Amino acid sequence: MNRYSRQELFAPVGPQGQAKLRASRVLLVGCGALGSHLAEFCVRAGVGALTIVDRDFVEPSNLQRQGLFTEDDARQALPKAVAAQAHLRAINTDVQVTGLVEDFTFRNAERLAKDASIILDGTDNFETRFLINDLAVKTETAWVYAGCVASRATCMPVIPGRGACLRCLLEDQPAAGGENCDTVGVIMPAVLQAVAWASVVALKILTGNENALFKKMYVSDLWTGERQILEAATPRTNCPCCGRREFPWLEGRRASRAAVLCGRDSVQITPEGAFDYDAARQNIRKAAKITTENDYLIRAEYEGLTLTLYRTGRALVHGTSDETRARALLARLT
Ligand SMILES: [Zn+2]
Repeated sequence: MNRYSRQELFAPVGPQGQAKLRASRVLLVGCGALGSHLAEFCVRAGVGALTIVDRDFVEPSNLQRQGLFTEDDARQALPKAVAAQAHLRAINTDVQVTGLVEDFTFRNAERLAKDASIILDGTDNFETRFLINDLAVKTETAWVYAGCVASRATCMPVIPGRGACLRCLLEDQPAAGGENCDTVGVIMPAVLQAVAWASVVALKILTGNENALFKKMYVSDLWTGERQILEAATPRTNCPCCGRREFPWLEGRRASRAAVLCGRDSVQITPEGAFDYDAARQNIRKAAKITTENDYLIRAEYEGLTLTLYRTGRALVHGTSDETRARALLARLT
């Protein structure tokens, strides 16, 4: 029995749409609440290839709303991209699933998006979304903006050249300090609403049903029942991105090297130039108490702070939002 029979019976998809889906390559940026469910949708639906880029590891507080992950993944502090890849391959061996433990930045964005039929937004921050928007408009690749916080969900399809881009509606990324999942929480129904919208957009685009898209930005609060729909069919006159073709995020002019992770009491530091993971790991072992170590990262506690160092050199310092203190800890331990 054809595993996609019910999806193919749905007339707008049909066997032809299914074949197009099979030939498609999806790039998913971020594999948290939105990303894990979007990844599961893509793999069950039968895309040809799915590449997942995520920089985080699984924590117990993720399990309430994030798909795919288990308590065992959290105990091992496995990178989300690695854990998701294993679970997704068990769901559908026909799909070429690749999990990359990387930060999605202007340095690797164009390489990672090469050959992508569509880019899906599983991120939790606007800096990365504006980077994706620059990339998508420059390379004329469709992408789907999705977000969720508290009980609110939002989604908008961006088809460069045939509708508005994210910057047509939002001129610039919102200032830091706004509401996010770490300050006001999030409930799973809001996640699933955004996932449902984003998944159907992806399904329409990838099965050749682009003319069935609603070119609008949807915002819905599932708790209060309030809804807002913004038109996104026409690009804004003189939009800096899709109109004037300025791409400051993609050119690295808007990229942060040390980022205070909003609401998380954490600072992320990305190394400049070459990095020797093994040497850094030896130094950390001498100076601090190791709490977790696996093939992808080492975590240690020191003076009330927690350092998580990835093999790629990216470091997360938990327990402070003071960039200087975080940099000092990293310098001392590595
Ligand atoms: Zn635009």
